[in-house]
Amino acid sequence: RDVVPEHAKPAPSSASSVKITSRERVVFPEAKITKGDLADYYAAIAPLMIPQAARRPISLVRCPQGRGKACFFQKHDSGSFGEHVHQIAIREKDGGHEDYLYIDDNDGLLACVQMGTIEFHGWASQIDDVEQPDRMVFDLDPDEQLTFADVKKAALDIRGHLADIGLVSFAMLTGGKGIHVIAPLDRGHDWDEHKGFARHFAEALAIAEPGRFVATMSKAKRKGRIFIDWLRNQRGSTAVMPYSARARAHAPVAVPISWEELPSIDSASHWTIDDCKDLLERAADPGLRGWCFARQALPGY
Ligand code: ATP
Ligand code: MN
Ligand code: MN
Repeated sequence: RDVVPEHAKPAPSSASSVKITSRERVVFPEAKITKGDLADYYAAIAPLMIPQAARRPISLVRCPQGRGKACFFQKHDSGSFGEHVHQIAIREKDGGHEDYLYIDDNDGLLACVQMGTIEFHGWASQIDDVEQPDRMVFDLDPDEQLTFADVKKAALDIRGHLADIGLVSFAMLTGGKGIHVIAPLDRGHDWDEHKGFARHFAEALAIAEPGRFVATMSKAKRKGRIFIDWLRNQRGSTAVMPYSARARAHAPVAVPISWEELPSIDSASHWTIDDCKDLLERAADPGLRGWCFARQALPGY
């Protein structure tokens, strides 16, 4: 991974032509963060976020009246976001098609913010072939009584187990409670194979260490354990995109981190949109160059 591929480098920053209205509207009341602040954050972070979030079907958490008021998770649209947010028709289970959203530049990002978007979630596949996933996400969801230290240890252990089967992985703080351990993958296997692998991997961990891990969604079984949420890896599922803000108190951000720095980080919501400058500077660190880019096939494919 010494050579960072062209598509993994920051996208050029450029002024957005999207007009942001109601810049003074307070979106995060606890911290008096406004829609204008959020738009400025996304405009600044776009060069880092676009390479990760562009050209994937996305879902949006929109809170037009601010977080805490009515928010909704939006998957479909046919045009109300304007020319910078694009549509892709994707086959549904029933055989019909639905229009999903995608963006490919910072105008697209900003057009979503103009429409009240706080969070960006994305598929694990790209619009040029949505049937071939290219990243596997293990979403570590700790039971409430666990500490962040427990989550960090789990993430590092999972990194080790993935390395044992030949897979390089990367860590991202969610901005909420947990960590996503992400393995970028070459395309070449389908969703059933993708989901099956993630499921068996998570179940094997839960069988090996039943006191620490659980691989089923049931809240009751989660007591004192970490749910390894492998369900992010099924067709139609999404995971929060790197550098997305979260609709939670004080506007935390989902942040790519290096494995080396993980032990010294105190919380999954360590960075907020106020830390934009630091996030931009961090991205130049050797440990973060090429984050989440690697050429590797799913074992067996
Ligand atoms: P945390 O670390 O707090 O768990 P997270 O982003 O991993 O943060 P989860 O609740 O574990 O949050 O994951 C839920 C994922 O499911 C989201 O990242 C999102 O992409 C997806 N999702 C699916 N449906 C919804 C919905 N209706 N509302 C919010 N998220 C949804
Ligand atoms: Mn989670
Ligand atoms: Mn989850």
